[in-house]
Amino acid sequence: MASSHPAFELVRDEKVAEINSQAQLFRHKKTGAEVLSLVNEDENKVFGITFKTPPEDSTGIAHILEHSVLCGSRKYPVKKPFVELLKGSMHTFLNAMTFPDKTAYPVASANLKDFYNLVDVYLDAVFFPLLTEDTFEQEGWHYELENAEAPLVYKGVVFNEMKGVFSSPDSVMHDQTQRALYPDTTYGKSSGGDPKDIPALTYEQFKRFHQKFYHPSNARVVFAGDDAPEKRLAILDEVFSQFEAAPVDAEVKLQPRWNAPRQVSGTYAGTVDPEKRRDGMVSVNWMLDPPEGRAETLSHGILSYLLAGNSAAPLRKKLTESGIGESMLGGGISTWLRQPMAGFGLKGIDPADAEKVEKLVLDTLAELAETGFSEEQREAALNTFEFHLREQNTGGQPRGMNYMFTALGAWLHGGDPLAPLTFEAALEDLKQKAGQGHFEREIRRLFLDNPHRVTSKIEADPEQGAREAKAEEDKLAAVRARMDDAAIKATEERTARLRALQEEVDRPEDLAKIPTLTLGDLDRDIRTVPTDESDLAGARLLHHDLPTLGILYLDLGFDLKVLSADLLPYLPLFGRALLQTGTSKEDFVSLTQRIGRTTGGISQHRSLATKLDDSGTAAWFFLSGKSVPAKFGEMLEIMSDVLLDARLDNRERIRQMALEEKAGFEARMIPAGNSIVDTRLKAGLTEASWVAEQSGGVSYLQFLRDLVKRIDTDWSSVEARFRQIRNTLFNRSRMVVNLTADGSLLADAKSSLGSFVSGLPQRDATEQDWGFAVAPKSEGLVIPAQVNYVGKGANLKALGYNASAASAVVLRFLNTTYLWDKVRVQGGAYGGSSRFDLSSGNFAFLSYRDPNLLKTLDVYDGAAKALRAGIGESDLTRSIIGVIGDADRPEFVDAKGYSAMWRILTGTTDDIRQQRRNEILGASNADFLALAEAIEAIRDKGHVVVLGGEAAIKAANDQRPGLMEISKVM
Ligand SMILES: [Zn+2]
Repeated sequence: MASSHPAFELVRDEKVAEINSQAQLFRHKKTGAEVLSLVNEDENKVFGITFKTPPEDSTGIAHILEHSVLCGSRKYPVKKPFVELLKGSMHTFLNAMTFPDKTAYPVASANLKDFYNLVDVYLDAVFFPLLTEDTFEQEGWHYELENAEAPLVYKGVVFNEMKGVFSSPDSVMHDQTQRALYPDTTYGKSSGGDPKDIPALTYEQFKRFHQKFYHPSNARVVFAGDDAPEKRLAILDEVFSQFEAAPVDAEVKLQPRWNAPRQVSGTYAGTVDPEKRRDGMVSVNWMLDPPEGRAETLSHGILSYLLAGNSAAPLRKKLTESGIGESMLGGGISTWLRQPMAGFGLKGIDPADAEKVEKLVLDTLAELAETGFSEEQREAALNTFEFHLREQNTGGQPRGMNYMFTALGAWLHGGDPLAPLTFEAALEDLKQKAGQGHFEREIRRLFLDNPHRVTSKIEADPEQGAREAKAEEDKLAAVRARMDDAAIKATEERTARLRALQEEVDRPEDLAKIPTLTLGDLDRDIRTVPTDESDLAGARLLHHDLPTLGILYLDLGFDLKVLSADLLPYLPLFGRALLQTGTSKEDFVSLTQRIGRTTGGISQHRSLATKLDDSGTAAWFFLSGKSVPAKFGEMLEIMSDVLLDARLDNRERIRQMALEEKAGFEARMIPAGNSIVDTRLKAGLTEASWVAEQSGGVSYLQFLRDLVKRIDTDWSSVEARFRQIRNTLFNRSRMVVNLTADGSLLADAKSSLGSFVSGLPQRDATEQDWGFAVAPKSEGLVIPAQVNYVGKGANLKALGYNASAASAVVLRFLNTTYLWDKVRVQGGAYGGSSRFDLSSGNFAFLSYRDPNLLKTLDVYDGAAKALRAGIGESDLTRSIIGVIGDADRPEFVDAKGYSAMWRILTGTTDDIRQQRRNEILGASNADFLALAEAIEAIRDKGHVVVLGGEAAIKAANDQRPGLMEISKVM
């Protein structure tokens, strides 16, 4: 099946059994472009083109270019071809990413025609982008001057995005550490861009960077999937042959090694609690040598797992049990840099304790090198890796994407792209060496005997935010002072011109050039999942007969409606406690190892939704696990131990988990600010959303802070709550058992499942009234951040909207046109969108890393008017295609079984799904008008939640008194 093309030379042609693919490596004769063509049966086809783009400074040049090439190209001269694809293709992946040494452009689709469309637009974008000065200014940075009296300000999408990134202490820490570890190479720069340095970048430098690096001679292309391999080469040659060879030196230089460790410290904008300081972070980091081959990268992965892969891993355990900090930082070796970095540390410490942490890390590693890992530890780690390598479960991500990034690790630096895709030989080798002291020797070689080490520390500086804002103001004022009248006028005009350009719409004939499917290319029918339902010892058994390649996927669901409302905030910790406190038979280290040796993993989570028939809330707790058939019985024994015998009296472990949970939530505050606003906004609207906030929103954070204290002062009442949950929740008469496995595995599984379920308690249980009452509230939640997350919403059903699935088409259009333009392009936020849940009727507008506040609310208030303007035929078609694409996104087999169960638990029958699909396919202008009317009502009747900086929130309240009730969250 060797494919060929005269323009390409075939360099390698091998079967890679581990990924069930024929791998062919080609070299484009004229330009030297390299192509990895993976032929397999995966319908979820992937294409990706990657360039080496090592930056020489921290102006964010590679990152700004990544944004800009997607803003119009030779064949597709519209403002945002990327957004057109986002709106109207069946993509299963569509994005671009900047790394410290490369920029990658991957796309994926399960529809062949759609796939070729995506490849075509992406190839034209990277090689023939328009890259106008306007695009550079909009995506990168520019001066904005409203009028001659107004202050001069910086604007730009990446400028603002990076301000948001640097608002997160974790990002500040990571940036500081990486810079310190590789001071003499490209890794010593901030590839995303440091907001202080971004304004030094010029348009000329930007253009030159593209010319130099975005060239076939510097390209690595990956194709993977079931599309025709010959056609891949033909598509590429058509583009590559337009270039002459231009070899470019983009090699990432090696950082020279040091002979002695170093220290680095810094600060971030944050608050300090003078009573008990918890604002410090410290980690001990090493630079490693480039790995030699697959055996070494696999060994790095397994060693990281052995040291810190779960809470029972000795180094993680030592750090978290030390009481010095709140949770672990880093977690081992990350192999995506040419010389990998490794780091272990703690966050939530008193900065004065930094040296203690350093000593603890080094002492623990020395101890482990001496005493070694136990056989149980090694076996658990090796089995866990082997299970995941064979399963190749990439979750929602197309598998081919993983192949691409895995191959690039070595390929980018002149190594073999195929070796990283294999694992059998390397795994066999490690299994041999593991018992002979291999990992212990590696601890010495990689860490203890390696002087290229940095101890990196940061702490909060309460003045930093104001100081940086002042420095930026001063810098701008100085620029402003140097401007003469002509320059001021020119900047004003430029500001107006840029805004006018942003308002301009593309010509329909240009938009029509973007290739698209037609409605006729779409399946009219929903995809269904086989489900057999039966009774199993009083529980409800659902079985999905799907090809699972010999693995059994099991979800055990328990109805949360039997719990009283005051118990709900305890659930996340309760779930963790089941798996991480041990049982009366064994401690949690031994239990964790038993899970690792026996299964492909056991996990827990909760799911919440408003039921479709308005009969209330579906609220479930799940314990899920997977195993091979031979280990299924043993997995059930573990599950039974965990459900009935977890050590809920293990105060020490529960205290550590509460601290970790709190630190984890606080760290998410900035990167996930929009979802925190979303959760808070809806908490007063429906019962399911209220529970979600109680057990995962700002209320939950407050609960955790209080709980951490109560564990010390009032443990017996805390323990009593945990017991009460277990004694009420685990009840087989309110239980669903969901099994996804080949039909041939069912008979055996069913008999062991039957005795397992019979061993669980059976109780009378009544549904509790959680006392939820609709009570929307407008709030300003203050955190130390330079950007805002602005939300506004309401329940549309309550406002009289007759919910139709066609609303998804309207939202897709709204999100990719009006909100994209106004909130992101013109407003300078990283993102802005709306969300609507068909079942509950909850609607929210949300912005992400937003420099504005009131202006964004005004944009939301104008949305109805934008919808009333109606939609053209081609936009309508594209939006329908996009929504169907989302609905048909391929799921991994375990997710198929889980989704089918969740639809049953929420009352979403196949008839309803088909009806919804029909509504989507038949979406029309009338749907736009109907939703416009509902959204119109949000303007006056909706409520507002903002998470952001204190100054911004106060200023907004001054302008619109009574807009928000202000409270400090961090
Ligand atoms: Zn970006």
